[in-house]
Amino acid sequence: MTVPLPNSVDYVLLDEDTIQQRVQALADQISDDYAGVHHENFVLVGVLKGAFIFLADLARRLTVPHCVDFIALSSYAAGAEASGTVRLIMDTRTNLTGRHVLIVEDIIDAGYTLDYLQRLFQARHPASLRSCVLLSKPERREIEFQVDYLGFEIPDVWVVGYGLDYADHFRTLPYIAALKPSAYQK
Ligand code: 5GP
Ligand code: MG
Repeated sequence: MTVPLPNSVDYVLLDEDTIQQRVQALADQISDDYAGVHHENFVLVGVLKGAFIFLADLARRLTVPHCVDFIALSSYAAGAEASGTVRLIMDTRTNLTGRHVLIVEDIIDAGYTLDYLQRLFQARHPASLRSCVLLSKPERREIEFQVDYLGFEIPDVWVVGYGLDYADHFRTLPYIAALKPSAYQK
C-alpha cells in the first residue's frame, strides 16, 4: 500500500523502517552504556516540541529504567530561518543535580540549541551529561558540538515528520521528508 504524500512534501528522506531500526540501535547502545543506573538517577530530557515522538519511541525501547522529563525551547520564529538566539519556554521539573542526564533532541543544525542546553544543564552539576540527537546537518554547523548518540546525518534541506514540523504541520508523519522549498519560501 502506498500512502500519498502531502502536497508540500518533496520526497521521503528516511522511511519508517529505517528510522525505527536506527532508534532501536541507539536504544541498545544507550541501554548498554547506562546499565546499572538507578531509575531515579537516569533522566531523559526531551526538547519540546520536535523531539516528542523520537523520545517516545526511544524510551520504550530502552531496557534500563529511567525517568522522562521535558524542556521547551524556541530558536526559530514561525518559519525556517535560524535566529541564533535560544529562548527557554519551559524548564524541567526534575532537579538535575547529581543525576545522569541524557538530552534527547530532534535535530542539530547550527548547534546553538544544544550548546545552550549543555551550558544550562552543566551549571546544575549533573552526574553526567550526554546528548542523543536523531538528525544532524553537518554543513549547517556554526559552533562545534559533540553529539554522543547520533541517528543520521542529512543534507541541508528543511525536513518534517517524526515530530519535526513546519509551522506546526507535518509532525505526525511516520517518515522524515524534505519539504518543497515553495512551501516555506515566500
Ligand atoms: P540549531 O540551534 O542547532 O541551529 O537548531 C536546532 C533546532 O532547529 C532544532 O531543534 C529544530 O527545532 C530546528 N530545525 C533545524 N533544522 C530543522 C529542519 O530541517 N526541520 C525542522 N522541523 N526543524 C529544524
Ligand atoms: Mg528542536
